[in-house]
Amino acid sequence: MAIDFELSEGSKLAQAHYHDIALKQMRPISRKYDLREHDLPVEWVDYWWNEGRFGTKGRSEKLTEGFITICLQAEELCWGDAGLYLRMPTPALGGSAVSSAGTKEQKQRFMSKFREEGGHPIWGAMAITEPQAGSDAAAIETTADFDPDTEEWILNGTKIFCTAGEGASTADGGFVVVWATIDKSAGRGGIKSFVVMANTPGMELIGCEKKLGIRASDTATLRFDNCRVPKENLLGSAEVRKKDPTKTGDKGFKGAMATFDASRPIVAAMATGVGRAALDFLKEELENQGVAIRYDAPPRELTAIERDVIEMEAELQAARLLTWRAAWMMNTGKRNNLEASMAKAKAGLAVTKITQKAVQILGPVGYSKKLLVEKWMRDAKINDIYEGTQQINQLIVARRILDYPSAMLR
Ligand SMILES: Cc1cc2nc3c(=O)[nH]c(=O)nc-3n(C[C@H](O)[C@H](O)[C@H](O)COP(=O)(O)OP(=O)(O)OC[C@H]3O[C@@H](n4cnc5c(N)ncnc54)[C@H](O)[C@@H]3O)c2cc1C
Repeated sequence: MAIDFELSEGSKLAQAHYHDIALKQMRPISRKYDLREHDLPVEWVDYWWNEGRFGTKGRSEKLTEGFITICLQAEELCWGDAGLYLRMPTPALGGSAVSSAGTKEQKQRFMSKFREEGGHPIWGAMAITEPQAGSDAAAIETTADFDPDTEEWILNGTKIFCTAGEGASTADGGFVVVWATIDKSAGRGGIKSFVVMANTPGMELIGCEKKLGIRASDTATLRFDNCRVPKENLLGSAEVRKKDPTKTGDKGFKGAMATFDASRPIVAAMATGVGRAALDFLKEELENQGVAIRYDAPPRELTAIERDVIEMEAELQAARLLTWRAAWMMNTGKRNNLEASMAKAKAGLAVTKITQKAVQILGPVGYSKKLLVEKWMRDAKINDIYEGTQQINQLIVARRILDYPSAMLR
């Protein structure tokens, strides 16, 4: 079997296109929206909605080469600014959920507005985490009760740390995918995901989190108080399987969990972008100071800085290769649950190490707000937390390699 790590011409064009956007549209306003945490980055949102999402004339067709391109886009745009990337008007995680668990009709119904020209910017989001349920997603307490008279689901509960939650819950046409249980006695088997359209009565935006990093991103708390959604907004099937749903092919929880097979490689690519931003900058600075990295020198002759930089590059490359493998498997329809978690765990750790090292090597100026390096260090850490923490992704890797069910290795 041939192994080919060359990017196609189309992917290279896309990469260059997104790099240009990162450099010209994102970097100039990066510090501004880091400081103005809860302000809408209007110029960026408008640019993305009216221009960025369509690509440039003549290139647009080539910008859609599937999942690899999505990861290239994530890396390049997060090289620009990870917070602004998360604030882009896109279906985001909500879209991954609809794609993974929704029917053809649901995909058309919820996603088409994101493809239409004109209109106002809209967002998608996914709300799983609750005050008492994060890593253990099966412990969620938000409920969905069916009202047979109106054929609606009634949602009740509170969701926290919902990325893009402000935009998705308030800009008409956007949506939040909400995980809720329709039968608590069924455990995981009772958990389903529901699409709640923006401004649905009963969904209330409580506020946005103040954060260490990715401060341009709106991380919302949402309350659901007798929030009614049509029967057709349940993604997948309403059937509840009480016996080990992970083994029986239950579409609800399994479908919802499949969202992560798509989203984890994207988060890994985002992490790689932030890490590369720091490493590129560090190398430029070292070069300006006359420090050349001797890649071919024998290890015993390397200076401490050379060894650090080479190690940082190796970490970044390893993260990227794992990411591309998981993305390629997604593209080709192969099951990538193990590979997606491997990529996410590796990239989340790599980016925290790389950015910290960059600050350290640059010394006091690296710690200063005159440069963006300290910001990248703050933006890095989230990649080790959301979409499954470092520990949880390692747990998934271990389970898959050892072939243990979740009940046996937790
Ligand atoms: C900025 C931001 C954006 C987010 N965006 C979203 C979003 O869009 N949608 C959404 O639903 N959620 C989102 N989250 C929530 C995020 O996914 C959770 O914070 C994460 O899953 C961890 O859950 P938790 O916070 O409850 O931590 P806990 O599960 O309480 O974990 C706390 C610590 O214990 C460790 N731990 C937990 N269980 C185990 C175990 N079995 N073995 C070993 N270690 C373990 C964890 O790794 C972690 O270090 C976001 C969070 C942040 C900070």
